[in-house]
Amino acid sequence: MTDIEPRKSESLAPTSWDYAPAPESRDVVTLRERYGHFVAGDWLEPSETYTTISPSSEEPLAVIGQATAEEVDVAVGAAREAFANGWSALPGSERAKYLFRIARILQERSREFAVLESLNGGKPIKESRDVDLPLAAAHFFYYAGWADKLEYAFPNRAPRPIGVAGQIIPWNFPLLMLAWKIAPALAAGNTVVLKPAETTPLSALLFCDVVRQAELPPGVVNIVTGDGSTGAAIVTHEDVDKIAFTGSTEVGKAIQRELAGTGKKLTLELGGKAANVIFDDAALDQAVEGIVNGIYFNQGHVCCAGSRLLVQESIYEQLISKLKRRLSTLRVGDPLDKNTDVGAINSKMQLEKIEELVAAGKEEGAEIYQPPCTLPEKGYWFVPTVFTNVAQSYRIAQEEIFGPVLSVLTFRTPDEAVEKANNTMYGLSAGVWTEKGSRILWMAERLRAGVVWANTYNRFDPTSPFGGYRESGFGREGGRHGLEPYLRFE
Ligand code: NDP
Repeated sequence: MTDIEPRKSESLAPTSWDYAPAPESRDVVTLRERYGHFVAGDWLEPSETYTTISPSSEEPLAVIGQATAEEVDVAVGAAREAFANGWSALPGSERAKYLFRIARILQERSREFAVLESLNGGKPIKESRDVDLPLAAAHFFYYAGWADKLEYAFPNRAPRPIGVAGQIIPWNFPLLMLAWKIAPALAAGNTVVLKPAETTPLSALLFCDVVRQAELPPGVVNIVTGDGSTGAAIVTHEDVDKIAFTGSTEVGKAIQRELAGTGKKLTLELGGKAANVIFDDAALDQAVEGIVNGIYFNQGHVCCAGSRLLVQESIYEQLISKLKRRLSTLRVGDPLDKNTDVGAINSKMQLEKIEELVAAGKEEGAEIYQPPCTLPEKGYWFVPTVFTNVAQSYRIAQEEIFGPVLSVLTFRTPDEAVEKANNTMYGLSAGVWTEKGSRILWMAERLRAGVVWANTYNRFDPTSPFGGYRESGFGREGGRHGLEPYLRFE
């Protein structure tokens, strides 16, 4: 037998396996230089404007309208006219056709929308491509199915549309939140005036193209862009019959105060500080994936993010060391790179808020862990962070950080886990990881949260209602429940 000759070449087998860049092409999206408001099926030239940017490069993307109260009034007028002149009287089966059409067009144009969403919002393309877009289309498909079955959804209650819905959405899931709002409203026979968030208007503006392509009657969907003052003008407009708001608890409370006594319908989907509870019998590697998905998905800009990790004491060391190892494999960077796990923080303001709360966490005595990570020079970025040694009273255990920052606490018994999980002013979501089905049910009964995920996290489906308790708001979106806020009953 001959001896194996040793390798002489200098080029040794690779010692590390770095990912090559895999950028998605930007060419699939054509941006205009300037956008107006979409009113009565046409573009309304705005009287005031601002510039929207890409948070990953700070590059200006387009000039956007900043709607004044007068412009909001024109949009509401268009919605009222469309409601009165045909849309509300259209048979449900006809409304369904439009919604099916919108759903199909979103699917067909999903790559274009996904690129735009990542460009304007900073989220990784693999998330906008694999989560935001499929779910947005699924919402339209789902509610298209209900449009001609409202009598069956609410038997013996004679459901009728309400009128004009004012809808105000945040920047974390721009197109998906639009779908959550517009699909049930239209299925129920209402018309809408929707305002996207100031920092992420572009996918809503591209959606106007879809509305036209689907030949939706003019005025059924109106989109006005602008900052909080535009939102406030929608809220206070006399001819708006219902407000649907997703955003911060602070603004939600202000809207509730404003609407008290007006008779307008209101649903609020606000903040959260969810507990993700890991029992010692859980499949730990799967739980680690669930923890990562729970808090680092969409840079932690998720109202139902699992931002408080509750770990049973007996597995604490093991779990935290697995989690830290997993964190070091997360790739932070260009949102348009298909390998990116964590993209850019949505805005400078949000980055400053995260930095302030992280500084408070250090100050209060929590121990910080951040994996080695090179951040791009331009844009807004934050390294995925874990805080251990966190007390329940710390700000990082109480306040919504809305960033890639996890606060870890421990517990010994199921009762203690429930007590700690419920020790929050919010009540939007929670996660439970255990092998025992009986324990899942026991926990789900006691956790005060609108959604409880078991052995998974951040899983959404249009058929499943979503919403919170206490300071997380009220009303449900998704499922049959999601139709109710858009209906009155005779
Ligand atoms: P806001 O609640 O201010 O924004 C949500 C939407 O409401 C946006 O379209 C916003 O416009 C609009 N708005 C703002 N002020 C008013 C008003 N007075 N009347 C009517 N509409 C208004 O959230 P922020 O973007 O300021 O984020 C702040 C914090 O809120 C975050 O750090 C996070 O903690 C939390 N948040 C929670 C969300 C959730 O899904 N639960 C979503 C977003 C934020 P504009 O974009 O111009 O401000």
